[in-house]
Amino acid sequence: MVCLTCGAAAPSDPPPLTWSAGTERGRRVWTCGACMRANIRSIEGKLDSAWW
Ligand SMILES: [Zn+2]
Repeated sequence: MVCLTCGAAAPSDPPPLTWSAGTERGRRVWTCGACMRANIRSIEGKLDSAWW
């Protein structure tokens, strides 16, 4: 498993709780903790546009 955003490999399997699972075009994707913090606002923005 690798981070969708930065490509970092997960340190464990399953990834630590700081990693967030998501689905993109039907594919399971992961985002690492650092990218979650860095991109939380843009992710929320995408969710907003997708939902509304
Ligand atoms: Zn990352």
